This record gives sequence, structure tokens and C-alpha cells, in this order.
Amino acid sequence: MTTPHALPSGTALTFALVGNPNCGKTTVFNCLTGMRQKVGNYPGVTVEKKVGQFFSLHGKPMQLVDLPGAYSLTPRSPDEEITRDVLLGARADTRRPDRVVCVVDASNLERNLFLVTQILDLGLPTIVALNMTDVAEDKGLTVDAEALSLELGVPVVSCRAHQKAGITELRQAMGREILPAAVRKWKLPDMLESALLRVQSCLVNQHEIDPSVSFVKALDLLGSPSDQRAGTCARCESFLKTADDQLAKEERSPHEAIVSARYDYAQGVCERVVRSGPGGRQDLSDRLDAVFTHPVWGWVAFLFTMGLMFFSIFTVATYPMDWVDKSFGSLADWVRAVMPPGDLRGLLADGVIAGVGGVLVFLPQILILFFFIGLLEDTGYMARAAFIMDRVMSRVGLHGKSFIPLLSSYACAIPGIMATRTIENPKDRLVTILVAPLMSCSARLPVYTLMIAALLPNETVPALQKAGLMMALYAVGTVGAFFFAGLFKKTLMRGETPVFIMELPPYRLPSLGAVVMQMLNRSKLFVRRAGTVILGLSILLWFMTAYPKSGSDSSTVQLEQSIAGKLGKIIEPVVKPLGFDWKIGIGLIGSFAAREVFVSTMSIVYNVEDDSDVTVPLRDNMLKEKWPDGSPVYTPLVCVSLLLFYVIALQCMATIAVVRRETNSWKWPLFQLGYLTGTAYLASLIVFQTGKFLGF
Ligand code: GDP
Ligand code: MG
Repeated sequence: MTTPHALPSGTALTFALVGNPNCGKTTVFNCLTGMRQKVGNYPGVTVEKKVGQFFSLHGKPMQLVDLPGAYSLTPRSPDEEITRDVLLGARADTRRPDRVVCVVDASNLERNLFLVTQILDLGLPTIVALNMTDVAEDKGLTVDAEALSLELGVPVVSCRAHQKAGITELRQAMGREILPAAVRKWKLPDMLESALLRVQSCLVNQHEIDPSVSFVKALDLLGSPSDQRAGTCARCESFLKTADDQLAKEERSPHEAIVSARYDYAQGVCERVVRSGPGGRQDLSDRLDAVFTHPVWGWVAFLFTMGLMFFSIFTVATYPMDWVDKSFGSLADWVRAVMPPGDLRGLLADGVIAGVGGVLVFLPQILILFFFIGLLEDTGYMARAAFIMDRVMSRVGLHGKSFIPLLSSYACAIPGIMATRTIENPKDRLVTILVAPLMSCSARLPVYTLMIAALLPNETVPALQKAGLMMALYAVGTVGAFFFAGLFKKTLMRGETPVFIMELPPYRLPSLGAVVMQMLNRSKLFVRRAGTVILGLSILLWFMTAYPKSGSDSSTVQLEQSIAGKLGKIIEPVVKPLGFDWKIGIGLIGSFAAREVFVSTMSIVYNVEDDSDVTVPLRDNMLKEKWPDGSPVYTPLVCVSLLLFYVIALQCMATIAVVRRETNSWKWPLFQLGYLTGTAYLASLIVFQTGKFLGF
């Protein structure tokens, strides 16, 4: 989005927004910048970069950067690394911010102050936004903002960002001149402190390190193990050695000494500025947790929630899906009615409209799934669900944290894979990425729905039976994901099962606006795919079925003579052992770029063949299909074999691209493509051949 208020870069004062994950940074960012924001990625990584423009109360233009959430500036995840590098001015793509707004969760002050001590070390003018004061009060905690400001030596503004309370005051504070905190309040034990200061002055004087980052650099050196200190000289080394010797006597690592000095300070500040009274809603949170994390009731609640979610996806969504379907159908009919017969009409009606419509039909289901995921995250339940699932995940060597990426992958593997960034252990993260595409994503729904309709064509088959079959498909994918996760953890990525440490945030009333915003943001990807990849492929496939012209009036002959038909025939020998003919082969070729293209390809394949001008339900056309010997193509066994193939195979260019970006190599996406497609082929082969042998 370009902003009408765009300024030449460098003229506006730039503020960075920093804080722990979930402390309300993005909410503050949205309050300040409104729609004047631009979202992109940091080059080379998929960490979101959000920049926005806003004005101080006096109309001074300013820039605001929403940095990724961080618990610490000693990075443990790609997100934290970016935050640190931007703040130090160490990224070529992003200018060092002039000032910092550090958002702090008042209900969790001590842990948040840990980061604040690191931010203040940077020496940038800083404002603390004391957010979530309402949550703190529900816990019975009152934070004295003025006292905190005196303690830290920087302005502190209380706010409740989700209600826009305190934002005006924050804007006011941001417009004023602010100075960096004058003195550093947290201190190391004397010995270390003097070593640190000596290293710092050596860095400035001998190594020409910019004084503004010299303290952080010196601290880094002190905190690293002695064999990992780069860029030092003999003088620095001798200072560092004194510190190391001292610590060796105390049997502490330098890193531990620094962390505990920060925590001691944070604890002291909290004792002086936080008053606690009787908790209000905290009791409620505890009571809810007694149920939601209970070994039995927790599971009941979990299964009920998941059940409700999937039930809504498959029932409530059918109404809007019908509307979308009918609209595209009428649009296609209208095009057929007003345009003269010919290639352009065919391209529009059978290529573009059928292709894009066939995919957009599933938008309501995706919206509902993302709505639920947003709701579960916003109320705080998601962390409990992850806690419950941790017991299952640990069986295959994964952490409860892998649950959220896997759940998101039911909608689409791409946001799921990006959500793995919160997993600190690189092996666990990779395993989660590798199995994520096995969770049946929404792009498979079109194929599942079509094939189930073909498998159970009778209108009288109860909906329950179809739903059961659908659930079975999801179950096969999910079990497969767990199976492969376990396998990979035992072989390729052997490693300790990490201990489950996950914070359970307090329950909150969800904010509808935030949930809807999340839902739209996450669904954008799907719509964009429909408008770009799918649209392009539909057009391409239509051309491949329409050219070269056979000159014959029969569309069967035309299809056989076309490029697509010839390609289908080429791969027929490979897919025939799975029970597929060359027309299904065309669908498979198309869906290697994106699975849902199978349905649009099939509509093109069979519509092209159909001489009448009416849109005939695809399913009926498919069921009429015969092998040359007259036997039907779509026997129940073939439908099952095809379904199984789609459950397992990795047919999504976008996923491959994202995995390449996230793992920064071609090795893992290619491995993933190979193992998933190979398994899919084998599974379908075994099912089809066994079924045939048994006489189905
Ligand atoms: P971020 O991870 O730091 O960007 O956090 P977000 O801005 O996404 O906020 C996380 C959640 O906290 C959202 O559901 C917000 O609506 C909610 N939230 C933000 N500020 C407050 C606040 O002051 N009080 C309460 N109760 N909720 C808040
Ligand atoms: Mg955020």
C-alpha cells in the first residue's frame, strides 16, 4: 500500500516498536498509524517487516517500525535476531531507528523488564508504553507508572491499547524531546563491571567501534564463551580473562552472570513499583485452567472445540459456498449467452471462470477456519490446546509448540510453515516444516469434495457418511504427519525432546476486530493464489487442451490431439498402475503446481469434451467416463486411490518456494517433494493393486 503521506526516507524521525511477543505492539502500531502502513518482509528471511507513518500531536511526521516480538536481544530465534540487528543498525536494508518505544506487558512486568534493560543499554532515547494495565488489574496488580519512570529514567505511559486508551498520551510523549536514560541502573558484580568498562573503552579507542554500540558489543564479548570471542585484541583479552577467572571461581558462565544481574535488577524494580491486591479475574483464569489443562476434561474440551470447528467448516460454510458457486455458474452462463461461440468464449467460460470459481468456492471454509484459529489465539485457549497436545506431540519427539503451525496447516501449509519460526530448536522446526504439508490443507478440499461426490454419488447417501469419509481423509494425513515426524526425529534429526516450556497467557475476551483482521490477513494468501497462480494455470491448461486444433468437430478428438492430451498419454503408463487414465493424468500434471487445479482442469477436460453449452455437473460427466474397453474409469477403488494420492503428495509450488526460503536451501524442499510424492505413489499403488487383486 502506498501512503498519501509518504516522505523521502531520512527526513522523518523513526521510532522502533519493541517488546515481548503478545505484549500489544501490533495493536499500538495500528492505533498510531491506522491505515498508513506498509507490510513486507526483511530480505532473505520471512520475518514480517511493518512500517507505518503517523503524526505527533503537533503534526510532525514520524515513522514507526513494528519489530518482531523478542524476549531478549541475545537472539534465539530469527525474529529476535532481526530485532536486535535493526536496533543496532546492523542491517543494510533498514536504517537504525532514532528512538524506541518499548511496549511492556504490565501483567508480566518482571519478565518484560528484562528486555527493557537490554533496550536501555542501546543508548537510544526510549519511551516505555506500559500496556495491558487492565490485565494486570484483573490479576490484582497495580503498576505505578510514575515510580517506574523514575526507576528507569525514561518516560513511561500507561495504556490499554486494545481500547485505544493512553494512545494520545503516547503520541504526545513521542512528540517531545527525549533523552536516553542517563545512567545504567543494573550493575554487574564489581569485578565484572570494571572489566566490562575497560573492554568498552578499548573497543572505542583501539577498534574504532561506534561509541553508541560499544557498550552492547563489549557486553556481547563478555557474555560469550572465551573461545567464541571474535574481534578482540590482547588488551581486551587480558580484561576478559580477569573476568573469566573470577567467574570460574564462582562456577558461573559470563552469560549467566549477566542474565542474573538483569533479573535481580528487574525484580528489585518490581518490588518497588508493583502493588498487589486481591485478584479479580485471575481466579477465573485459574479455574478455567483447572478444566482446560485437566488430563481428562482438558481432552474433552479440546476434542469438543476441534469438533465444533470442523463441523462449522463443513456445515455452516455450505451456504456461502453455494452462493459463490451459483454466482460463478451464472457468470459462465452469461458469458456463453452473450458471446459468439469461439476460442475467446471458451477461454473465458471454461478456463478463467471455471478455474478461478472452482477454487474461490472454498473461501468460506478457509475464512471460518482462520476465524476459529484467530479466536482461539485471542482468547488464550490456543496455548492450552498446545499444552494438551504436547503430551501427544512428545510421543513423536516434538514440542507442544509444533501444534499451532500444524493446526494452521489445515488451512494452508504456508502460514503454518511460517508459524514454525517460534520453534527455537532448529531440528524440531525442520521436522515440523517437513510434515506440515501432510495436514490436509484447504486446497485439497476441492479435490476431496469432488471425489467423495463421485465415490458416493447417490443423493440419498446420508451427509453423515460423507462427513465421515472426509474426516477419515483428514485423519490419514494427520496420522501420516505424526508418523513421519517420529521417523525423522529418530533418524535424520535425532535430538533431545525439549522440555515443554510455554507460557499460558491469561484468558481474555477476544476482540472481534483483531480476529477478523487476522482472518482476512491470513486468507489473503489464498485469494491471491486464486487470482495469480490458479488463474495463470487455468488459462495455460485451457490453451493446452484447445491447441493444436484437430480440425475435428468432436471434442474427444480435440482433447486427444491437444498438448494436454498428449502429455496425459505420455504419463499414462506411469499412473495406470494406480488406476488412473490419461485424463486424470492431465489433472495430475496441472496439480503439481497447485492441487486445487485438479478440479478446474477436470472441468476444462470434461467441459471441453461436452458438446452442449450447459454446465453439466462435473461429477456426472466423470461417472460417465469409460476406458476404451467400456469399463468405467471412476470405480470406487480408483476414487480411493486418487484420494489417497492427494492426501499425501506435495503438489504445491508455493509450499516448495516457502520451504526453500525458510530453510535457505534447495535440499529440504526437494527432499520433501521426493518423500511425499514417493509415499503418495506407493500408497496409491498398494491400495489399487491390492484392491484389484481382492476383486473390488
Ligand atoms: P504483539 O504480539 O505484541 O504484536 O501483540 P498484539 O498487538 O498482536 O496483541 C496481542 C493481543 O493482545 C491482541 O488480542 C490484542 O487485542 C490484545 N491487547 C493489546 N493491548 C491490550 C491491552 O492493553 N489490554 C488487553 N486486555 N488486551 C490487549
Ligand atoms: Mg505483532
